[in-house]
Amino acid sequence: MTLERVVKPHIRELAPYEPGKPPEELERELGVVGAIKLASNESPIGPSPRAIAAVREALEGLHRYPDGACFALRSRLAEHFGVEGKQLVFGCGADELLELTAKTFLGPGDEAVYAWPSFAMYPIVVKGMGATPVQVPLDADLVHDLDAMRAAITDRTRVVFVCNPNNPTGTSVGAEAFDAFVASLPEDVVLVVDEAYYEFARRPDFPQAIEWLARRPGTMVMRTFSKIYGLAGLRVGYGVCDPEMADYLNRARHPFNVNRLAEVAALAALDDTEHAARSRQVNAEGAEYLTRELTDLGIEVWPTDANFLLIRAGEGFFDKLQREGVIVRPLDGFGMPDCLRVSIGLPEENERLVKTLARLRKGRA
Ligand SMILES: *Cc1c(COP(=O)(O)O)cnc(C)c1O
Repeated sequence: MTLERVVKPHIRELAPYEPGKPPEELERELGVVGAIKLASNESPIGPSPRAIAAVREALEGLHRYPDGACFALRSRLAEHFGVEGKQLVFGCGADELLELTAKTFLGPGDEAVYAWPSFAMYPIVVKGMGATPVQVPLDADLVHDLDAMRAAITDRTRVVFVCNPNNPTGTSVGAEAFDAFVASLPEDVVLVVDEAYYEFARRPDFPQAIEWLARRPGTMVMRTFSKIYGLAGLRVGYGVCDPEMADYLNRARHPFNVNRLAEVAALAALDDTEHAARSRQVNAEGAEYLTRELTDLGIEVWPTDANFLLIRAGEGFFDKLQREGVIVRPLDGFGMPDCLRVSIGLPEENERLVKTLARLRKGRA
């Protein structure tokens, strides 16, 4: 038998998600030692010590299944957001919430509208259900073109994804534009607001998407513990929505999708507000430093509300940086071969990126 004959055509045509290369892989493949990774928007300061302690303490209980309902984390977040516990859905990373949304609301013939370039998982989950992706180009400033997205909605549209702040550009939409867009949406379109970088946003008019939950059924706001809380390796994220939507997503969910360690670490991380504040501070200072230094080198840098920067370093710099042990994210796949996405690191990591780029670009132009 040839699998090619039985594999679903929409799965065969998928391009797998390409994660940022860990330094060990770079050492294995290219023999580059001592590399730094600024490629996956991970927290440069690591997880809260309280989260680490909570994980250690939970190790003895690993023979037990996790709490499939995530009761403790659910209660904690429900209180934080002023919603009912049954309005929360947890996932193995926020990625799983995207997958659950696609599984629950999309099939062949259905359309999902989202901006492009945006998060690389949107086409994967949409096409993975055999549905049709409708990618709406960002505007000239690489910001979501919400008017064009609204215009792209048809009778076949079931889901709209808004990534705010947007990955891989770091740009964001403000409250006025966002609220007008949401108010204009047809009732029977599911709105997913992906706020993976919410905690880093600095613009004063950043939208309060959560406030739409009470007013617009079929709206979900997604957050994650992978970014500001530094728990990417444990995989835990969540969506807040109305109880009916949460109920449907829960039917599609595997029972133990958030593991024991992830739940206790997430709870402890929420309690360590000082650590989260430090993460935000290190990021804001790094954004400022990198923007200033890279601009001085003649490199275009886009404004960011996230923990990474979009920069126009010129073509070929992904490979050149990698050989120098600085791992960043190439954007060739988005049709932007002259741009890079660089995660904001610790001061010494940021400095190494700047110095390496300065050296590599010398003699150019
Ligand atoms: C990182 C990221 C996520 C999800 O991350 P998880 O690690 O799966 O929680 C979701 N959306 C965007 C835009 C991201 O950058």
